[in-house]
Amino acid sequence: MKPYNNPPKLNTSRKFSDNLTSAHALTLKAKLGEKGNSKGTSYALPAFNITTIQGINAAFDAFETLGSSGVLALSNSALKHFGAGDAITGLEVAANYIESRAKRSSVQIATHLDHGDYTSEGGRKVVQGAVQYLTSVMADNSTDHVNKCARSLEENIGYTREVVNMAHPLGVSVEGELGVLAGEEDEDTKSEISTYTNPEDFEQFITETGVLMIAPTIGTMHGPNKGKPGTKVKLNIELAHELLKIADRIQPETIFVAHGASTLYPQVVEYAVEQLSTLGSNMSDKYGQTWKNFVGTDWEQIQGLIGAGFAKINTDTENRQTFLSALLGAVSENAAKVDIRWYDKKTTEALTQSYLVKLIMAGNYGVWHESKINVDKFKFDLHVALADALKNAQ
Ligand SMILES: [Zn+2]
Repeated sequence: MKPYNNPPKLNTSRKFSDNLTSAHALTLKAKLGEKGNSKGTSYALPAFNITTIQGINAAFDAFETLGSSGVLALSNSALKHFGAGDAITGLEVAANYIESRAKRSSVQIATHLDHGDYTSEGGRKVVQGAVQYLTSVMADNSTDHVNKCARSLEENIGYTREVVNMAHPLGVSVEGELGVLAGEEDEDTKSEISTYTNPEDFEQFITETGVLMIAPTIGTMHGPNKGKPGTKVKLNIELAHELLKIADRIQPETIFVAHGASTLYPQVVEYAVEQLSTLGSNMSDKYGQTWKNFVGTDWEQIQGLIGAGFAKINTDTENRQTFLSALLGAVSENAAKVDIRWYDKKTTEALTQSYLVKLIMAGNYGVWHESKINVDKFKFDLHVALADALKNAQ
């Protein structure tokens, strides 16, 4: 008897609260190029890793400005941060806040557990909680982070299938991972090793787990250092197309997810380096080079990924860099301003700009309503306040 026959299908009739839906529903729409009542070219949903209330506000502002579909991703460490050390409390706090924003929103969004681990007791509790609170979960069981090696295919399938059995009947989509991704996102996902996804394993994995979303590894990397400065990240787009053919044959609604697909924004680095030098020559000597050394995934490469079936593009590093850059700018403008809201506003507005540019790059605008700005005119510039940037783009 085969242990992994007939995985449960995603329950698409489940109704979540207002304007919340599964990540699979939104990414499938993107892969099919659906906007309003029309059908065009494929686009992608950048999944924004949310760690604070400001991040959530910035994301909603960006989605509603452009009429975009959204994915708000929460990692284990972000949940602990929201929950003052306890991830389950964090789930409740973050999900409730997002829900009340979503209710008042003009767009549809998904809430997603990033890198849920179903192999440890603590990780399992978070995944079980996420299935109750969120609309999508990642079951990241491909890497053994304790022993720093790839988990066997059988183990990965077994754990992932348990998550699918629990989540799909509730309408919660599941993202699996196959292959080992290099780089460091946070302490839970650090990996020095990496392997490409094997096509035969891929076929067995999607057949037996029933996942509709999968992160294959084709060369993207977590973290700010995706290669030597001045070099390009090597992406194996041919492999992605080979996997897409297999997916089209077995389950055409399969969505590919790119992890570690942050782009580097040169204007953010320039702005940060400028602020560091106004803060003192020791600051620019000490930190300037680190900023200049960051390497990201090129935007053309991301376009290639969308063409190969990727409809969820995980981005985090560039938004963190934008936030920090804006904070340096705020401190260099007035380091004696005793008003938390002022720093909040500066960093939140910068994050909103960062999200806007990524959504525009991914073609994700005009999905739920017309964009409120002219996307061709929008210029990402940290020297300009958000209100002015939006006015210039009308
Ligand atoms: Zn990731």
